[in-house]
Amino acid sequence: MSRPRAILIDLDDTLIDDQPAVSAAFAACGRHAAAQLDVDAARFVERARQLGWEAWDTVWLPPVRDWLGIAFWDGLSEGFTGAHPHLNRFRDWLPDYRRKTWGVVLEEFGCSDPRLADDLGELFTTERHAAPVGALPGAARLLKEAGEREEPVVVITNGAADGQRRKLRAAGLDGLVSDIVISTEIGVGKPSPAAFLTALSRVGSRPQDAVMVGDSFDRDVLGSTALGMRTLWITGEAAPPELDASVTLVESVDRAGYLLHR
Ligand SMILES: [Mg+2]
Repeated sequence: MSRPRAILIDLDDTLIDDQPAVSAAFAACGRHAAAQLDVDAARFVERARQLGWEAWDTVWLPPVRDWLGIAFWDGLSEGFTGAHPHLNRFRDWLPDYRRKTWGVVLEEFGCSDPRLADDLGELFTTERHAAPVGALPGAARLLKEAGEREEPVVVITNGAADGQRRKLRAAGLDGLVSDIVISTEIGVGKPSPAAFLTALSRVGSRPQDAVMVGDSFDRDVLGSTALGMRTLWITGEAAPPELDASVTLVESVDRAGYLLHR
């Protein structure tokens, strides 16, 4: 009897939507700033998002950031646990990044109080972690049906190890997957074939016996098709003419689950 098919699946915007939590954290910081200073909360949030992104673009960071797929809002709140040597310099720099981001925003609104910058840094983290993380419709069902068919599922994701695990747990999905492979823990991210091969090795599977489900063309689709994996690409776009024949477009994880288990 052949081995059951393995499913590799992306986390952000595939299984879960974390953006409401990120927006809630920014909004809390905006309200806090508006209560302390004579500023418009929405304008404060707008500038925080912009300046947080700009401060993220330092000379040395892009190789690490792009390689491991780290978003700036994760830089504002996550701990980036893990023993990989790439993370040492990054973790050392994070407190400066957060202080600089909130400090620059405050300065723009005429405030140079470093304590308020630190307060905003802590508030952003606390509020983001307290906000609920929703599983996208159909995500839990896909994972449960895979479990019923004894198909191992490995979440493969780029980002902070502590943050990605927390989000999977908060969405109630952690008990439904076999494993989670995170770029900052293994030292390489999607679309590198090494990331996909690591995920497959966790469940003893091979590319030709597995299917990838994800929403990012550059990271999920290009990575999996390079290894010859069948891929379900969650997208609202039309298929580009040069798209690999092994890729099927689906509009949601719900639809992906239907195609996998109908
Ligand atoms: Mg994604």
